[in-house]
Order: sequence, then structure tokens, then C-alpha cells
Amino acid sequence: MHNIAIDGPAGAGKSTIARLAAEKLGFIYVDTGAMYRAMALYFIRNGISGDNETAVSEACKDINVSIEYKDGEQVVILNGENVNAFIRTEQVSMMTSDISKYKAVRAKLLDIQRNIAAAEDIIMDGRDIGTCVLPYAETKIYLTASVSERARRRYKEQEARGAACDLEELEQDIIKRDRQDMERETSPLKQAEDAVLLDTSDMSIEDAVSAVVKIYQAGKGGSNEGS
Ligand code: C5P
Repeated sequence: MHNIAIDGPAGAGKSTIARLAAEKLGFIYVDTGAMYRAMALYFIRNGISGDNETAVSEACKDINVSIEYKDGEQVVILNGENVNAFIRTEQVSMMTSDISKYKAVRAKLLDIQRNIAAAEDIIMDGRDIGTCVLPYAETKIYLTASVSERARRRYKEQEARGAACDLEELEQDIIKRDRQDMERETSPLKQAEDAVLLDTSDMSIEDAVSAVVKIYQAGKGGSNEGS
């Protein structure tokens, strides 16, 4: 199995780029953020505060998260329900960043993610894939872009979804989320030592996808001793 790990901050275009690269390579795309989002949705729906680690950890045993693929699209199943339509709001984004720092939440998803990667050729994106989930991934990429460009992309995405949003607010949310994700103790967002840095600020989506495919091919043909 070949595993490609893509990590990076919020709104860097990881999911769009990873999905298209997976299509080109015939790999399965796994969006781990969606799994954390499904857990956050559960806590919101059940009135559990993101500040309350004890309550969040306790509730983890009542949560079942899995993924399926329908027409090539990843579908996240939360306790039997397809929750794809509910996990992309800003409220869920912030809650996700709040609860993903807790050990119990991360432990819940780690094995699921590793099992998927062991069974298929995959491109998996998230925050800790190259550093923690798949430390032996053959290809690791740290995908980023400037904060203003990432906010602009998120804005366009939300606009297309018909959600009202404010560019300035989105930028502040992104800054806060990055800080939380980078400064947490458990599996913080950081570039793995053996990851290739890809800054997409001035790149089109097509160029970024080609860059990912090239990095993969170079790794396959070149040194492949893992980490
Ligand atoms: O990638 P996405 O924006 O959907 O991720 C939402 C949140 O989920 C991130 O801000 C981060 O807090 C959390 N996350 C994580 N580890 C991952 C993927 C996502 O902590 N592997």
C-alpha cells in the first residue's frame, strides 16, 4: 500500500487538492478533518461544552464514527447518520478545533484512520497525519498558503454554499484555529521533518495537484526509506 500524508493549516486547500490528486493516481482520498467534525457535531447537538474535557471524554464512548464512499464522495457516518451536510459550518469548525485537543477524542479516531491506511492506497489529509497517524507514509506533504489567501478561499467556499459570512471574521477564525491546532499538546499541527513543503498561495488548483503528483512520483523513484 502507498500512503500519502498531507498536513497543513485551515483553508490551505488540502481537501480540494488531495481529492483531485487521488483521482489522478487512482488512490482513495481520506479527509480526517471530517471525522473530527462529526464528533464536534455530536457534542454541539448534545449540549456538551468544548471546554469540558471530562464531559467530552466521557461522551466519546457513545460516539461511533465511520466513513463510506458514495459515488466517489467520502460520507461521514455519525451513529448511523450521514452528517456530511452538517459539518461544514463555522460553528462546527471552531468546536472541532476545541475538542480535537483532547486525548480521548484523538484516541477514538487514530485506529480507524490507521486501519483505513493499511488496507488501501490512500491520500489522507489532516493536521497530524505525517507526524503521528502515519509516521511511515512514503510521501509526506505540508501544504500551506498565506492567511489572507486561505481566508479568501474559505469565503468563496462558504459563499458558494449560500452561507452568509464576513471575510474579516473568517480570517480571525482561521488565525485562532491555527493557533489552537499548533499549540495543543497532543498531536499539534507541525511539518514533519521529512515532509515536502508546498506553499500554494500563488498556485492554481491544477498546479498544486500536479505538484502533489510530482512529489509522489519523485518519492517513488527516489529514496523511499521511510522515517
Ligand atoms: O481539515 P479541517 O478544517 O476539516 O479540520 C477541522 C479541525 O479538525 C482542525 O482545525 C483540527 O482542529 C482538527 N483536526 C485535527 N487532526 C486532524 C484533522 C483535523 O486535529 N488530523
